[in-house]
Amino acid sequence: MTAIKGVRASARGMLLLGLLGAIACASAAEPAAAPVPSSHWLRCGAMWDGRGGPARGPVLIEIRADRIGELRPADGPLPAGTITDLSDLTCLPGLIDSHTHVLLQGDITAEDYDAQLLKQSPEYRTILATVNARRMLSWGFTTIRDLETEGAGYADVDIRDAIQRGIIPGPRMQVAGRSMDVTGAYPLLGYAPALVVPKGVQEVDGVEGGRRAVREQLSHGVDWIKVYSDRNYRVAGNGVLDDVPTFTPEELRAIVDETHRQRHRIASHAVALYGVHNSVEAGVDTIEHGDYIADEDLRTMAQKGIYYVPTIFVGEYVAAGRAGEGAPVWLEMPKIHANTLHRALKAGVKIAFGTDIGGFDWHINPAREFALMVKYGMTPEQALSSATVVGAALLGWSDQLGTVETGKFADLVAVQGDPLADITRLEQVRFVMKGGVEYPVSAERLPAPSLPK
Ligand SMILES: [Zn+2]
Repeated sequence: MTAIKGVRASARGMLLLGLLGAIACASAAEPAAAPVPSSHWLRCGAMWDGRGGPARGPVLIEIRADRIGELRPADGPLPAGTITDLSDLTCLPGLIDSHTHVLLQGDITAEDYDAQLLKQSPEYRTILATVNARRMLSWGFTTIRDLETEGAGYADVDIRDAIQRGIIPGPRMQVAGRSMDVTGAYPLLGYAPALVVPKGVQEVDGVEGGRRAVREQLSHGVDWIKVYSDRNYRVAGNGVLDDVPTFTPEELRAIVDETHRQRHRIASHAVALYGVHNSVEAGVDTIEHGDYIADEDLRTMAQKGIYYVPTIFVGEYVAAGRAGEGAPVWLEMPKIHANTLHRALKAGVKIAFGTDIGGFDWHINPAREFALMVKYGMTPEQALSSATVVGAALLGWSDQLGTVETGKFADLVAVQGDPLADITRLEQVRFVMKGGVEYPVSAERLPAPSLPK
């Protein structure tokens, strides 16, 4: 696939020599011609550019530093410069997962979760997170929104920044830091009252407490605020899943207002009736999970442009384990979730791809979510758009990402065959480029971190 890579490397070497030559000339006070960087091109057998319609091609994509340059049909003579031959593959925009947890290593049961917070240092968890960030990239996810560190403080801010500065490989990131829930609602729970145990979130109460927590978290560099809006799910009859809401509507309104006032956005973990209702009324920007959403709230979401991030796979994955822990409702939730997704599609709600990886083990490719989105009623193109154009819009990065267009970041992946005909193709990405730099694909086996015993 990268047949002419050696040529590219030597071209870079020549560029460096050229620059050194230019510096030498400059010191001799002689005008020097600026070195002309040669173009690099991807030759794609086909391309789905994210702007609607089927894949077309073959196409040549020019890579100009970290950006996409010219796009041209590949049927004419080859352009000057180096070429990466992807002519047996279909090129697409880099994938976007809008709901990840790089600092979590799976938490089907409370025991899995507690062990990580009690037995692993935040430093060790951060080391694991750097491996997870690399994994996301190797699966073709060139951008992620990481929705809280689960007790690891603001380690996500540092991971985001280390990637951005080129210190470690990983996707572009927007992060949510510690997140918020009310006192007594979020693990670790159930320990003797005299024990001081770590918490997976910042515990926040009251209107003024909410405003203060938003100010504190934003001051530590998070992009998003995240709230947990409900807990304790049960089927209330007629296929309605209800819950115990955590924050009061007044508290939620204050948190949302303070977040927006500071030009940031807010995600709400809201699984069932009241959590979702209170969140959309308060004006959050994204609903996470949304296993059950009332029709009235779907209408409000469509009207206000609130995104729905359904995270289907994780719900199916944890169902048996959580039922075994005494919460059989989890076995009923996938069916309710499927019904909600159908109704959301009909209501015209914006749906973004998100998986909650970290909530399931890191040896599972999160691209499995695509097949479930299609099984639950989305077309392959809708599913693919949810992880490209729609994801980019959710992040506020539509001008930089999400489609293959001149001037955008050269974040590209390639798969065999046509993903619009077979969405599972996305589970085997064959080529990954982020910001014009090629990264190894998932064939590179990384160790699956094991939980402490
Ligand atoms: Zn999550």
